[in-house]
Amino acid sequence: MAAPDVLVIGGGLHGCSAALHLAMRGVAVTLVEKDYVGRHASGVNAGGVRRLGRALPEVPLSVASMELWRRIEDLTDDDCGFESHGQIKIAEDEADLEKCRARRETLLAAGFDHEEVIDRDELRARVSAISEHCVGGLLSRDDGAALPFRTVQAFRNKAERLGATILEGVAVARLARDRELWTATLADGRVLSAPVVVNAAGAWAGRFAAAFGEPVPVEAVAPMLMITERRPPFLAPVVGAISRTLSFKQFANGTVLIGGGYLGRADPDRDRTLVDHRKLAENARTVRDLFPVMRDAQVVRAWAGIEARTADGLPVIGPSSREPGLFHSFGYSLHGFQLGPIVGSILAELIVGGRTNLPISPFAINRFARSAAV
Ligand SMILES: Cc1cc2nc3c(=O)[nH]c(=O)nc-3n(C[C@H](O)[C@H](O)[C@H](O)COP(=O)(O)OP(=O)(O)OC[C@H]3O[C@@H](n4cnc5c(N)ncnc54)[C@H](O)[C@@H]3O)c2cc1C
Repeated sequence: MAAPDVLVIGGGLHGCSAALHLAMRGVAVTLVEKDYVGRHASGVNAGGVRRLGRALPEVPLSVASMELWRRIEDLTDDDCGFESHGQIKIAEDEADLEKCRARRETLLAAGFDHEEVIDRDELRARVSAISEHCVGGLLSRDDGAALPFRTVQAFRNKAERLGATILEGVAVARLARDRELWTATLADGRVLSAPVVVNAAGAWAGRFAAAFGEPVPVEAVAPMLMITERRPPFLAPVVGAISRTLSFKQFANGTVLIGGGYLGRADPDRDRTLVDHRKLAENARTVRDLFPVMRDAQVVRAWAGIEARTADGLPVIGPSSREPGLFHSFGYSLHGFQLGPIVGSILAELIVGGRTNLPISPFAINRFARSAAV
């Protein structure tokens, strides 16, 4: 095999997006995935394509990513099941509504106007099945959702069509640098060399960072989701809540996806997760409170995925602060799916041209070293 210019570790959306954007720029890429592409967080998530409610440092990236989502078919040759019926966070009382107004003001002050406060009437016009007690909410009208597994495969397929090599079912067991060249030893003994490595290994990525002297406070967590039997159509937007943990959407086939961040148990050493039924029941109670129409709904399946969560809830994006030719993209802390298209493009810009116009300094890996030193 010809030596790649860039070796990507991890076949989630972030690894595949980096591979696609690099291949689009004519870079020879080899991506190595220890299981199969989309096996972990990127293929089993809720598919929420959301700018709504993001931490301020993520907003510029999220807004730029939404531009790519809008033309996702041009980028990947597949619509990725993306639909934009809006995302709404429900206000259940006047105090929640006040939080919505404050959030809108904060975003306006930062130069963004995509989050709008809606009143009781507009909420009912958009979400007729909502419980009587709800008084309004925060709306991001062009947000939406996509099909996660299909999305990762679309990025992967396009990257391959543009010449990227994808190796599945084999882990990068060891990584070492000798002057200008990285050498990756794979679990089956093969050895790959490249001047540049992208660490997009999801919940396992912290190990590569730590091995090169950049330990990050990142843990493997297991966000859970449930899906119900088919219900008559009652909901178009994706719905969350201001003061409760919820992510709620209905698919065109009638099934309803329930999640929002309740955690099960993650066992990254064995690639396994365990669901926590008590927390799933709490999640279901929230749905029953907010949507009386769901009172008799039957849950047919529940699962959890493995995700990397950092101590400050923000990802690590950009070059290593110690090792030339090493770039990180991990720690998406339960909300990295929407960012996938833009972060792949940012990495390609950094690797090919040495810079990006988007503000990525809040995601620098050495922020943790800086905060430990204070
Ligand atoms: C249940 C759930 C719901 C979520 N809902 C949403 C949502 O609605 N909206 C949103 O924006 N985000 C959501 N997220 C978060 C989102 O899924 C993640 O932030 C995103 O998918 C992370 O992508 P990734 O490429 O970094 O990681 P992953 O998809 O986990 O990919 C990393 C890959 O690296 C591979 N790997 C690890 N070590 C090695 C090695 N040594 N060699 C080779 N390969 C290796 C792994 O096998 C894995 O496939 C959710 C996550 C979960 C789990």
